[in-house]
Amino acid sequence: MSNHKPPLVNSSRLPALAISLLLICPTVFAQATSPVDKINEAAAKADITVEKLRGNISVLFGSGGNIVVLTGPDGTLLVDAGIAVSRARVQAALDQISEGPIKFLINTHWHWDHTDGNEWVHSLGATIIAHENVLKRLSGTTRVEDWNYTFQPWPTGGRPTVVFKTEKTLNFYGEALVLKTYGPGHTDGDISVYFSNADVLALGDIFWNGYYPFIDNGVGGGIDGMIRWVNTSLASVTDKTIPYPRPWPSRQPHPTRRVPRYVGSDPRERFATEETGQINQGSSRGQTHCRL
Ligand SMILES: [Zn+2]
Repeated sequence: MSNHKPPLVNSSRLPALAISLLLICPTVFAQATSPVDKINEAAAKADITVEKLRGNISVLFGSGGNIVVLTGPDGTLLVDAGIAVSRARVQAALDQISEGPIKFLINTHWHWDHTDGNEWVHSLGATIIAHENVLKRLSGTTRVEDWNYTFQPWPTGGRPTVVFKTEKTLNFYGEALVLKTYGPGHTDGDISVYFSNADVLALGDIFWNGYYPFIDNGVGGGIDGMIRWVNTSLASVTDKTIPYPRPWPSRQPHPTRRVPRYVGSDPRERFATEETGQINQGSSRGQTHCRL
């Protein structure tokens, strides 16, 4: 059985908003250093915080993208792997909630803050599952102009070995998982992961709460796809569902009550937030938009 110990205490994790702003608007920050380097530096120092979502599902904060953890009697399943420099802290956090080995790792998309830890997780025996385009991106050199960064191919051990095109189901100790894509959105290989029994929906970087999203148009992401993703995904949830977008601690209000503020009849105007004033005045299909 899983050994549930008290959650770790949050003391100095890098705020998700800071990470997100670095990714959205690198020009706001130092030009000489890529936001990728800055986020890696921050992740190397950040504490990892564990937040319990529901049942045997928890989320780890502090290693770039959030890591969703499903524990079973004899093993663990992760959704995303965070940044490799956080390995020791992530491992310590996992040890707090499960004594079993990591058996599966699902990548929601190719971005390094979700896949950089792939190799070490796989080295412990985990099978990596992702959309087929994630394998494509991790197998080659990928330039992200907005981050001023060129990613080299991931080591072979860090690449998914189980890939799919549209949908895949998976059973893990009685929890039925549905992995699904609605086409390009944030990238060209986004998937959502729905935990059917727990009624938890992990959305990766598809839904950004409170500010305009980063869109990786260099690999096929686009605003129309983001809007389609958000509308389709969140239309499928109920008031009881816990959707889990990247910067969305479950203690905040349920996102379905906020969706109309971001997605409406004129989505390019309304996708940006009303709260922060990041109203999108000029974005068009495929553009990344930043307005502070
Ligand atoms: Zn991303």
